[in-house]
Amino acid sequence: MKYVGAHVSAAGGVENAPLNAAKLNAKAFALFTKNQRQWQAKPLTEKSIQAFKKNLSEAGIAPEQVLPHDSYLINLGHPEAEALSKSRNAFVDELERCHQLGLPLLNFHPGSHLRKVSEQDCLATIAESINLAHQQVPDVVAVIENTAGQGSNLGWRFEHLAEIIEQVEDKNRVGVCIDTCHAFAAGYDLSSMEASAESWSEFAKVVGFEYLRGMHLNDAKSTLGSRVDRHHSLGQGNIGWDAFRFIMQDPRFDGIPMVLETIDDTIWAEEIAALYQLQHS
Ligand SMILES: [Zn+2]
Ligand SMILES: [Zn+2]
Repeated sequence: MKYVGAHVSAAGGVENAPLNAAKLNAKAFALFTKNQRQWQAKPLTEKSIQAFKKNLSEAGIAPEQVLPHDSYLINLGHPEAEALSKSRNAFVDELERCHQLGLPLLNFHPGSHLRKVSEQDCLATIAESINLAHQQVPDVVAVIENTAGQGSNLGWRFEHLAEIIEQVEDKNRVGVCIDTCHAFAAGYDLSSMEASAESWSEFAKVVGFEYLRGMHLNDAKSTLGSRVDRHHSLGQGNIGWDAFRFIMQDPRFDGIPMVLETIDDTIWAEEIAALYQLQHS
């Protein structure tokens, strides 16, 4: 079974996110559990946590189908000690918030070497950050997102994801989220059924579907291999519907949250309905 939704707003409190997802007929959703552009956030209140759990259950969405996204400020591969420590503390706080909400996943961008250390060193730092975080917060799975490879961001090649996973001690608590726009911008063609089959078999070979814990479904304004991260509405960008038809018809994508981060939130309900239609056409 496929679980499709969108990255919904949590304005006014995390408890509002499941309500926003329900309005879209979503079976999954993503959210920020704090302001994604600030370091500090007030702890979640017990009232807010209880309301979130109640609203989630009333929306008929399982905690496994929620894919929280961490703050954009966090860089778990930061080459400088002080900044790295700040990022690691913030990441633990993000994991803690997921744990409090009863959510088993946390999606994050792996990190950037800022042209100060080698890719290898940066990937090792990211893996070490995950290992340290695992020691501090139980249960929650660290879900590494592939990136478009803008600037010095790592994680755009499947090999980067595999290399991080290899160095994580608890393999049950690490996974990946593949963003279709980022994959395409990184050079993995998804624009036809044939190209999709090839790119996903590359993923199967390098990372493995057993690590796939979530998807971001986005079309791209950017072009294949451009390393530029610009999302577009489904079917309106350079990727096109076949990429999403392939995913919706392939059982390897069953059972995980697949969320839109497309640019026009007024058509999310239509996009979600269109994705479900693709299962049969
Ligand atoms: Zn994404
Ligand atoms: Zn993006």
